[in-house]
Amino acid sequence: MTAKKDTSKKERHILALSGGKDSAALAVYMRDKHPELEMEYVFTDSGCELPETYEFLDRIRAVLNIDITVLKSERNFDYWLKYYNGVLPSPQNRWCTRHLKLEPFEAYIGDVVTFSYVAIRADENRKGYKDTKGTIIPRHPFVEDGIVLQDVIDILNNAGLGLPGYYGWRKRSGCYFCFYQTDSEWKGLRKYHPAEFEKACYYEENHSDGRVYTWRGKNKDGHLFLRDLRKGRNENELVIEESNDNKLKTILRGLNLPIENQIVSWE
Ligand code: SF4
Repeated sequence: MTAKKDTSKKERHILALSGGKDSAALAVYMRDKHPELEMEYVFTDSGCELPETYEFLDRIRAVLNIDITVLKSERNFDYWLKYYNGVLPSPQNRWCTRHLKLEPFEAYIGDVVTFSYVAIRADENRKGYKDTKGTIIPRHPFVEDGIVLQDVIDILNNAGLGLPGYYGWRKRSGCYFCFYQTDSEWKGLRKYHPAEFEKACYYEENHSDGRVYTWRGKNKDGHLFLRDLRKGRNENELVIEESNDNKLKTILRGLNLPIENQIVSWE
C-alpha cells in the first residue's frame, strides 16, 4: 500500500472510486449536496486496470478539482498467483479482490471510524461490502435518495464528465482479465487492447505444474481457452450486444454515442 493514512482525525469520510460511472456520479452528487464534508477520494489500483480507467480518473480529477489517493497492494497479481500455486481467481475464489482491492483499502482506513460512501443505486439489488473490523460505516446516498441509472447518466453529463471510455466494449471497470467478462467483452479486449488480451492468454497457457486454469472456466466439452474465442464472420461487423443490462443499453443508445462508444459485440 503506497498511500499514507491520516490517523489525526476522529472520524473520516471516504468515497472509493472504482473507475466506473456510479462512483464518479456519487462524487459529483456528494460535492454538490454535502460540500461541508471533508471527503477523501480513493482509488484502489489492482495493477491490472484498463487504460480507460486511468483516463477516466484523470477526467474526474480535472473536472471536480479533487485529489484521488491511489492505494495499491505491496504485492502484485503475479506474487499472489504464485502464492496460490497458479490457481487463477474465479467467482468461487476471488482472492484477487481480497488481496488487491479490500486489504489495501482496509489498511488505509486503519482503526479510525470511517463513513464509507457507496454508489449502489436505488434500482439495483446488490449488497455492499462489509468490513471485518466494524470501523467502516457504509452510507448509501443513492439508495436513500432514490437515484436510479438515468439519474447517474444525467449527473455525469451535467457535470461534463461523460462516461468512461471502456463503455465502447465493456460494461464495468476492473482488471483487464476480469473473469466476470462476457465473451463479447473479451472480444472487445482483443480488439482494443491486444497486448492485455495476450497477457490474459499467457496466464491461461503457462502453468508449470501442467494443470489447466482458464478465466472462463469450462463447459461439457472441456476448458474454455481465450485463444479459442470464436472470431465473427466479420470481425468489424458491429452488433448491439445481447446483454441482460437492457436498461443501460437503452440509455447508451439514447445518448447517440458514436458507434465505437457503444456496447457492441462481434458475433
Ligand atoms: S475486477 Fe475482477 S479480476 Fe479484478 S479484482 Fe475484481 S473480481 Fe478480481
